[in-house]
Order: sequence, then C-alpha cells, then structure tokens
Amino acid sequence: MDSRLTGTVAIITGASSGIGEATARQLVEHGASVAVVARRKDRLDALVSDLEAAGGSALAVEADITDRGQAEQAVQTVIDRFGRVDILINNAGLMLVGPIVGADVEEWDRMIAVNQKGLLYMTNAALPHLLKAAEDGPRQVADIVNISSIAGRVAWKNFGVYNMTKFGLNGFTESLRQEVTKRYVRVGVLEPGKVDTELVSHNNEQVRNDLAATDDIPEPLQAEDIAESIAFMVTRPRRSSISELWAMPTSQA
Ligand code: NDP
Repeated sequence: MDSRLTGTVAIITGASSGIGEATARQLVEHGASVAVVARRKDRLDALVSDLEAAGGSALAVEADITDRGQAEQAVQTVIDRFGRVDILINNAGLMLVGPIVGADVEEWDRMIAVNQKGLLYMTNAALPHLLKAAEDGPRQVADIVNISSIAGRVAWKNFGVYNMTKFGLNGFTESLRQEVTKRYVRVGVLEPGKVDTELVSHNNEQVRNDLAATDDIPEPLQAEDIAESIAFMVTRPRRSSISELWAMPTSQA
C-alpha cells in the first residue's frame, strides 16, 4: 500500500462490477477510504469485505443514482461515516446499442438517466464537500473523474444515444473544470476504448450476437488497466490536472 491518498475519501459509482470495482481496489492500495456505490448490495458487501480483509477502509452504499434523492442520500451517508469527500469517480454507466429507427425509447431513457442525470445528481451533491476538501483537506486539492468513452469522441452507427450521453459528458466535464479548477477541484474525463466487463451483457441477445460478430478487438483492456489510469489522474501533484485521458487497447484501431 502506498500513501499518496492517505486521509482521503473517495466515492466510486458503479463499483459493483467492472471498472468501478477495480478502481475501488486501486484507490485503497493508494491509502484512500472508499465508498462504493451501486444497486447490487450483495456485490458491494463482498467487495467491502475483501478490501477490509486486506487492511483497507471501505463502505458499501446501496443507491440507484438515477433517483436524485438516493444520490443525495448516498453522499450524505459517506459524510456521516467518514466526514469528508476528496474524490468522486463518476463511473456508473449503461450502454444499450441499436438503431435509432424503431428504437425502444425506454432504453434511451435508461441510458440518459444513468450516464447523465445520475452523474449530475452525484456531482451536485458532492461538490460542496469537494470544494471544502480542496480548501482544508490533506492534499489541498480534490478530484472528479468522469468516465466517458471513445464513444464520447467518435460516433458510430447504432451507438447514437450512447454517443450522445458520452459526448455530452465530455462537454459538461470541461465546463465544470473551467468553473472550479482555480479553487483546486480538478475535473477530468477518461475515455476508454473496449474494456472486458459486463457492459455489453445488458443488451438483448440479438445485439450481443451482432456485436460479437463484428468484434475485431482481440485483446481488450482489463478493468484494472482503467483503474490504474484513474489512480494516475488522482495522484498527480496538486499543480497538475489531467483534464482528458484517452485509454485504448493496443489492438483497437
Ligand atoms: P459494468 O456493467 O461492469 O459496470 C456498470 C456499473 O454501473 C455497475 O456497477 C452498475 O451497478 C452501475 N450502475 C448501473 N446503473 C446504475 C444505477 N442506476 N445506479 C447506480 N449504479 C448503477 O461496466 P463497465 O465497468 O464497463 O462500465 C463502467 C463505465 O465505463 C461506464 O460508464 C461505461 O460507459 C464506461 N465505459 C466502458 C467501456 C467498456 O468497454 N466496458 C468502454 C468505455 C467506457 P448495479 O447494476 O449494481 O447498480
């Protein structure tokens, strides 16, 4: 365990699987206390047990962040337990793929609710605490890392609404960065290419088969690779802010 984040508290949304779970493990390695947020409480409890067994400090927070009240309560629960928030990793997300023509509009609602509204609710609730941490915290700096995607840089057929949520997230991130960076809250966006997680599994069988049939990326990233990038962003010296990081599998053109 190294000590670069000792004394800090990090909230990680979408930490019941994939990138979020790996990020919780990484940040604990750097000495942070972590609050892991998602809906699947059993997965969060198992992760917290693991982290505590390894000597870390962790809290499972069951919340559906698309519900503003639950998002606000999640942040309050962290304050009640740890008294502070230094780092917010907005990672929870959903990717439902398919044509716009004849789309299941309910899928659009679900993506916008998690990828954008949930992220906004969490950011809004955490910001006062992050601003305070930047003023009087152990590092005199605080962090927001928003997990976007290569789909926030490049649009593809059949990814339209997912593209929209991630392009929008990139714009929001840069706007917020300009607003708070001089108060030493660093705001950055991380845009992964393909990562081997459960993300695709939420699509219907037809979509999953289509994605598998057109897959030309033999060696995707692992969640740990992105977790390391996140850890890099939040462990820079106070003067250094990584505002954008694009992390690709070598085998993805
Ligand atoms: P996973 O499906 O493994 O993780 C998604 C996480 O989001 C889960 O922990 C899930 O937890 C959580 N989540 C979903 N809905 C909600 C909700 N309403 N409230 C709270 N938590 C929620 O996929 P990844 O780890 O891959 O995805 C993480 C992020 O990375 C996403 O933003 C995704 O867009 C992005 N990304 C992923 C890429 C990839 O190839 N995998 C590439 C580029 C970006 P639960 O269901 O328990 O609530």
